[in-house]
Amino acid sequence: MAPTPEKFYRWRVQLDCGCVEEVLTYGKEKLPVEQQWHDLVHKVRLPAGQVLCFHDDSPPEPYRKIVEWGERKEVSFPADPVEPPDWMDAKAWALIRHEEPRTSAFWTVTLSCGHATEVMAPDLEWKPADGPQRASKMSLRRMKAAYEELWASDPDAQAESEREHTRRMLADGWPCPSPENLCRTCTWARWIVAYQRIGWLVPRQPEPKRPKPPSRTGLQRRLRQAEAEAEKLRKQLAQLGGEDASEAGS
Ligand SMILES: [Zn+2]
Ligand SMILES: [Zn+2]
Repeated sequence: MAPTPEKFYRWRVQLDCGCVEEVLTYGKEKLPVEQQWHDLVHKVRLPAGQVLCFHDDSPPEPYRKIVEWGERKEVSFPADPVEPPDWMDAKAWALIRHEEPRTSAFWTVTLSCGHATEVMAPDLEWKPADGPQRASKMSLRRMKAAYEELWASDPDAQAESEREHTRRMLADGWPCPSPENLCRTCTWARWIVAYQRIGWLVPRQPEPKRPKPPSRTGLQRRLRQAEAEAEKLRKQLAQLGGEDASEAGS
């Protein structure tokens, strides 16, 4: 499926995180900053000139607004196992466990940063034109109270950015799908700030050297040499005797 290695060109690029990496382009004409690289996590293209670079100390993923709704797909899940996963106690698991197999719809969305992510629809029939569904007044009041209690009793339960998101969600009636989403790509995506050519991935064979077309003076010199040589041979033949000499002279 991939093009042959002969088609790839190597570049050294510097990213805005300071890292220097090597990238490959298809052919040597398109610059790395003009290229749209792939976000392999979401199988979409990044904004032109961005690549992913992974750092342990990357900033936390920010919330971004959805600016465009893209493709829809359905994903089927089997029933959840009865046993809770290691990280959850049995009581909580019983509350959220899906006893039956189920199918959910996912939409690929573009965020305000230009990156893509997937959003689960509230139900299979839902379309973006329907707008988000909102929680009932009663459940909203309950959620508000529960979060206020959580923040008061355990101030570290939510990071500041997460708490801000929760506040926006509560103020907006807990819309589903949420108009903003975490963008994991933002923590990894870096701009190319400088680039330098390295060369073809498969080094090209040097062009075979063609013999130079002969020059006029060169040809004249070779002709003089050939005539002198012919003259010498005629003289030698003449010295060998009459008949041979006349044949050679004719
Ligand atoms: Zn980096
Ligand atoms: Zn982003």
